[in-house]
Amino acid sequence: MRINEILEKKQTFSFEIFPPRGDLPVEQAMVIAEDMAHERPDWISVTFSAGGSGNTGNTAAIASRIQRHTGTNALAHLTCLGSSKADVNAYVQHLQEGGVQNVLALRGDRAPGRAAVDFSYASELIEYLKRTAPSLCIGAACYPEGHVEAPSLTADIESLKRKQDAGADFLVTQLFFDNELFYRFREACVRARIKIPITVGIMPFTSTKQITRMAFTCGASIPARVIKRLIAAGDNPVDQARAGVEYACEQLCDLAANGVDGLHVYSMNKPNVARAAHEALRACGYCKE
Ligand code: FAD
Repeated sequence: MRINEILEKKQTFSFEIFPPRGDLPVEQAMVIAEDMAHERPDWISVTFSAGGSGNTGNTAAIASRIQRHTGTNALAHLTCLGSSKADVNAYVQHLQEGGVQNVLALRGDRAPGRAAVDFSYASELIEYLKRTAPSLCIGAACYPEGHVEAPSLTADIESLKRKQDAGADFLVTQLFFDNELFYRFREACVRARIKIPITVGIMPFTSTKQITRMAFTCGASIPARVIKRLIAAGDNPVDQARAGVEYACEQLCDLAANGVDGLHVYSMNKPNVARAAHEALRACGYCKE
């Protein structure tokens, strides 16, 4: 099913997985996806070479198997920097043959040797997909604290409006740790006449080292209350990870109480994280089953 049609009817709940590296990554991903599918998410997204991993080959295959075999809708990510129109056409054909109807259209991070071929920005990919594959539902990324390269949040929201105008059907946010920043961003989107649904992406932090890396790669701010929880967890990795899941569940329930369009959990290929999020959202009444 197309995600925009689900969003017309209900607030959604979804997970992300990334293709594992190494041998049998499709089979490994399917074990994770099938476990997550037990939580009955509205969709599972599959990343495309996230973090510059170069692991792009299996995204369409994993998304197709999720769509065909788990009873869950798949959202296949696609980045366009360094890709030609022919590359995009081949990927879309693979998705459509596998029954996948949803694509998250992204630019991708700049990297040495990755120059623009046919696309410089996500809005160009969105416009191209809308024209050449009109049956696809197209998602796009948004940044409650502004994209790291953007000169200001206002400039980034203008770029976001271009993605809506190019035909994006819904948005997924980058992770953040301070919900107030999201609420302010949502108001700014209303003022900028961005009307498509915004699903909110939340990632539990797993350690002091990991959250610091996130802050530096995505520009996400770390509020004092998160720092205090990590101090309380001390050097114990298990306590740090537990604090991260607890904090993410609190963030999700606060967002649920504040009427978001959808909640998307960056579950880091960990079905136990997906389960904890689902339990928290059932307890606060956001998820009904
Ligand atoms: P764009 O929308 O093109 O924006 C990029 C920058 O250019 C922004 O600063 C924007 O303000 C600016 N800009 C846009 N249009 C214009 C214009 N016309 N003129 C001037 N400036 C402009 N990366 C992966 O490699 N694989 C993934 O699977 C993946 N999944 C992601 C999922 C989500 C939900 C998010 C939030 C990010 C994901 N990323 C992924 C990271 C993403 O590729 C990077 O954040 C990338 O740097 C920007 O992608 P974008 O689609 O937002 O780009």
